[in-house]
Amino acid sequence: MRALVDDLKDRNYFGVILTGGEPTLHPELPKIAEYARAQGLHVRMITNGWRLAEPDFASQLADAGLQHVHVSVYSVRPEIEEKLRGVAGTLPRAFQAVDLVSRLGMTVDINCVINRLNADHLDENIDYWIRNHPQVRHFVWNNLDPSMGRAEVNQAQFVPRLRDFEVSLHRALKRLAETGRTFRVEKVPLCYMTEFAWASTETRKIIKGEERIVHFLDEKQTVRQTEWDHLYAEACSICSLRTICGGLFDRGNAYDPNELYPLFVPLRSVVEKVLSDRSDPSFSGQSYQDWLQSFRLRLTDARSEWERTKTNTIPVGQVTDEGQRLYLKKRRAEARRAGQLGIRMELESQRK
Ligand code: SF4
Repeated sequence: MRALVDDLKDRNYFGVILTGGEPTLHPELPKIAEYARAQGLHVRMITNGWRLAEPDFASQLADAGLQHVHVSVYSVRPEIEEKLRGVAGTLPRAFQAVDLVSRLGMTVDINCVINRLNADHLDENIDYWIRNHPQVRHFVWNNLDPSMGRAEVNQAQFVPRLRDFEVSLHRALKRLAETGRTFRVEKVPLCYMTEFAWASTETRKIIKGEERIVHFLDEKQTVRQTEWDHLYAEACSICSLRTICGGLFDRGNAYDPNELYPLFVPLRSVVEKVLSDRSDPSFSGQSYQDWLQSFRLRLTDARSEWERTKTNTIPVGQVTDEGQRLYLKKRRAEARRAGQLGIRMELESQRK
């Protein structure tokens, strides 16, 4: 973990997000947070809030230097949350964690994975948060990745149609904007969040030319994400936001590209909104004209790079022989450590 944190520091990254799985299960989490903070990184964590509802544990992390927490909640309807979590009683603990974290001086956001079961009431969730936990000022939505874990084998049950959440997402974002709160949305094509296109994480990264490094602890290993190699439909070719849109994130072949429809809105206003955001840690004050010039160069470079490497590029997330070798090596080390701690590892067949 030290090596991974050092790598982010060497790249001059602003911060690190400790995520999972569930990072609070890691026995050395406070130590990791402490080390990352000592290296000058802004330290955040994404958690379901279960362990963080314990005052001693939360204080330990606050003392270690954790600054910001994203608590993941799918739905404020207990029956939906319980079905998605597979365990009863997680919702009250997540609420407790949110309030506890705030009392301890850390900032807290709410993360929500959009799926078929919550798609129709994203706005109801927001109303609840505003009413009952008004200290939460920032919200993050992720549309479900249909290639991951149990989503992959239960696609029909959990993967939403884009149209299922279009209205409720719009209402939710509007309500947040009206109350002065901020938000980001990931893996949602811009045609399903047009008025708030500037809040798309992929779009912001494309505009700013930012990369994202993910140090996976499984067989994917380290992934450097500089391009958003998502799906586009024929309709995208005439869309005014095509060059700054992440398209349809669909590694699991569960979404329907026919749901995409072209936009005819000005690209400039979206770009200017992102460039003028002073709350963004990477704010540089760049003008639209300067941006346009450098963006055209970046586009030309990206196209020639794509032409050059299209036959041997490894898509993000694809398992290579080298990745597999390193993964198995790491699993053997984990098994040894688990043996010392008296913990049983799950079988490889159960990891799918
Ligand atoms: S039509 Fe295509 S390029 Fe345009 S917003 Fe939708 S997904 Fe993005």
